[in-house]
Amino acid sequence: MQRIQATELSLRVAQLFIAAGADTARAKLVSDNLVLANLSGHDSHGVGMAPRYVDAIAEGYLKPHADIRVVTDAGALLGLDGQGGFGQVVGEQAMQMAFERVATHGSCIMSLASAHHLGRIGHFAEMAVARGLVALHFVSVWARPIVAPFGGGDGRFGTNPCCIGIPVGYGETQREPFVLDFATSRVAQGKMRVAHNEGRLAESGTLIDENGKPTNNPGVVVVPQSDGRMGALLPFGEHKGYGLAVACELLGGALSGGGTWHDTHDGRRAVLNSMLTILIDPKRLGTQMSFASETLAFVDWLRQSPANSEDGVLLAGEPERKAREERQRLGILIDAATWDELTQSARKLGHVF
Ligand code: NAD
Repeated sequence: MQRIQATELSLRVAQLFIAAGADTARAKLVSDNLVLANLSGHDSHGVGMAPRYVDAIAEGYLKPHADIRVVTDAGALLGLDGQGGFGQVVGEQAMQMAFERVATHGSCIMSLASAHHLGRIGHFAEMAVARGLVALHFVSVWARPIVAPFGGGDGRFGTNPCCIGIPVGYGETQREPFVLDFATSRVAQGKMRVAHNEGRLAESGTLIDENGKPTNNPGVVVVPQSDGRMGALLPFGEHKGYGLAVACELLGGALSGGGTWHDTHDGRRAVLNSMLTILIDPKRLGTQMSFASETLAFVDWLRQSPANSEDGVLLAGEPERKAREERQRLGILIDAATWDELTQSARKLGHVF
């Protein structure tokens, strides 16, 4: 394990992206975003993804200089193409454009097709709630099909994240927002990579092996098993979580024009995300004041529940904020395998991490 401060880590990862062909501004934006995921407690979506991005640039699927392209512009309805650009870059461009539309129309439905990995989707919801907006995101993942359908025995789609951001209170009564942000698989695939790197077992009920049998070995979704086949993650929440995963594929992938997964994997390292985003301004809906008081009242009501666990009642978004405070202070722990992958990735580019 290596402990490193966030600013130092971000600097090093930005240099890695510059060595891979990114310009300074984009490299910094992407590395800051990955480090923010580490700070938020989601190492699965942190700097451990950087070697994969470097490989995706070399493969030609990640286009480090690409910006969004406007495909459809119908006021409150925006159809955008991420053109394989850094998801952190085109994702923010797309959100900024959607915010302008909300300012005019009070709401915006924005689809973003074919961005390279968007990272932690909660980042986009946090951008929206900071502006007092409600945000809904449905995302498809176009990479290796790693999640089995409910009742199925092999991977057929990605970890399709879903995210909902809701501001709590308003003005003087404003509190920390609700930011629910999760993969629709029981655990994110990156968490299995981290567990595998750290030599930990996965919880029961999370994985099936390459023969469709339950297993606790996270390696089944990280390295090819016998005859090159892989195991799969299971969706969360049985048939209900599976249904949400399919909705993310159809709304994020099919509706945006980005496409759905229906093929075998060709071994590529790139991860493409397509996302449907819905933004609503409560002020323009005319419910701002009652919305603010009801969100406050409900959250207070939840918190009055007697604690039945060590942490008691938390609101989604709270664990990430807590982790940020702690990791900013103490630094970020990077496991040895991730550090080694970053070093190897730099070496391939003739660079020192
Ligand atoms: P997770 O299982 O850790 O769940 C996170 C969510 O649950 C957060 O909203 C968190 O605030 C909330 N939460 C956690 N503990 C809680 C508690 N005790 N009480 C109330 N709420 C609580 O997350 P995950 O499924 O591992 O996903 C991790 C990240 O991976 C997310 O940011 C997601 O966007 C990202 N992701 C991205 C992709 C992609 O392709 N870009 C794919 C999958 C996941």
